[in-house]
Amino acid sequence: VETLLRMTLPGGGFAGVRADRSAAMAAVKGRNNRSTEWRLRGALVAAGISGWYVRRRDVVGAPDFVFVDARLVIFVDGCYWHGCPRCGHYPATRASFWRAKLDGNRRRDRRNNRRLRRAGFAVLRYWEHELREDIRGCVAHLRAALRRRRAMRDPLRESASRDHRPSMFV
Ligand SMILES: [Zn+2]
Repeated sequence: VETLLRMTLPGGGFAGVRADRSAAMAAVKGRNNRSTEWRLRGALVAAGISGWYVRRRDVVGAPDFVFVDARLVIFVDGCYWHGCPRCGHYPATRASFWRAKLDGNRRRDRRNNRRLRRAGFAVLRYWEHELREDIRGCVAHLRAALRRRRAMRDPLRESASRDHRPSMFV
């Protein structure tokens, strides 16, 4: 990774290597999160859980998974980017830059939660490490939440189906 990084640094110099290594580490952690998301997709399929869409851009925050019928969304939060209290940390290099960036991410997460809840969505967030360590537990938790949401919404299903453009898409 370091060799590649040196080659791709502008000018090929070594100035700023430390800061860029933080960025490279963050990028690696971002990829880990993508693979965690794929693992959850696989687990949903294996568990026979259907009715989900991935990363719908027309829903606030482009959640990783959207269950339209249950009005439930799931975010897979990367421990690094979303400031997991257990795994997250502020890099030592360019500390103020990263602190501002990661704090901004957390604020955006909370704002998206509020907007989604106001629009009638249940919001589930799983940490990357939770999915890595106990995906069965996460799927069981999700299944229970889905069951509650679907039971709650069932009596409304008929009227909801007449609404061709649900108000959930804000
Ligand atoms: Zn974590």
